[in-house]
Amino acid sequence: NEAARYVGRFAPSPSGPLHFGSLLAACASYLQALCANGHWLLRIENIDPPREQPGAAVRIVHALETYGFQWHGPIIYQSTRTEAHEAAAAALVTDGQAYHCGCSRRDLQDAPLGALGPIYPGTCRSGTTADEFAVRVRTHNEPICFADRLQGRHCQTLQVESGDFIIRRRDGLIAYHLAVVVDDAFDEVTEVVRGIDLLDSTPRHIHLQQLLGLPTPRYMHIPVIENEEGQKLSKLTGAPPLPEAEPRPVLVAALGALQLPVFDDLAASSIVEIWDWARANWQASRLAGLRRIANPLPPMAG
Ligand code: GLU
Repeated sequence: NEAARYVGRFAPSPSGPLHFGSLLAACASYLQALCANGHWLLRIENIDPPREQPGAAVRIVHALETYGFQWHGPIIYQSTRTEAHEAAAAALVTDGQAYHCGCSRRDLQDAPLGALGPIYPGTCRSGTTADEFAVRVRTHNEPICFADRLQGRHCQTLQVESGDFIIRRRDGLIAYHLAVVVDDAFDEVTEVVRGIDLLDSTPRHIHLQQLLGLPTPRYMHIPVIENEEGQKLSKLTGAPPLPEAEPRPVLVAALGALQLPVFDDLAASSIVEIWDWARANWQASRLAGLRRIANPLPPMAG
């Protein structure tokens, strides 16, 4: 059973059903994996119960089946990986790379605001006496750079741009940044394809990979879909769930948004034929440097 040279994944959070923007990320990561003859994994990132919407995970899986996605192996539920996440957080604390932080939101209200949110001023770096604490990882002043497959070279100096960031929350839940890094390594993911809204998180992921001695996958951040008001299409901006009764026109619209040369009759083909055509015509480079795509669907779709 030889290891795949290419392993991609789609990693939705069950905070709501899939929408057109999530379909784009699913399609791009799937096509990259198909064209590399690689594996494509499905990982449900269900480690934030307060933000989970009951039934969303089942709906997501059902929608992916309806749209013709075929993942390799069983679905991975991130909630089964808590022990590994906890162990990584604990190891960073033991190594002195992370520390307990009792700062409340109020303690941080005067912290300077950066593009990523408040920049943590390092208040607890030398310890805390608080009973309830988050765990923060230390950052440094060297720029962390990577070459995104579509967006080019991207650098961040974490100490200045985010400050030490949370890897385990005060409520005991593991932060997305730590979980995604631990699990991408465990699942042997070699290429992460996801929305450009996560481009600014990637240097934090690389920082954690370096501290934990984990490999850094290649990254490809695809454009996000914008609604008429220029807002990113998301659960927050009220994106409708993907329609399931007739997936083909929506799948074709997603492929068109990914700059495939779609044509009118394509939506009359079967889902399998649409995927065969997409696989034969996919060229990620058509998306190079593109950050935003206007929503091709009529506003009431879904
Ligand atoms: N679970 C994350 C989300 O739904 C995506 C994680 C990733 O692709 O790295 O936004």
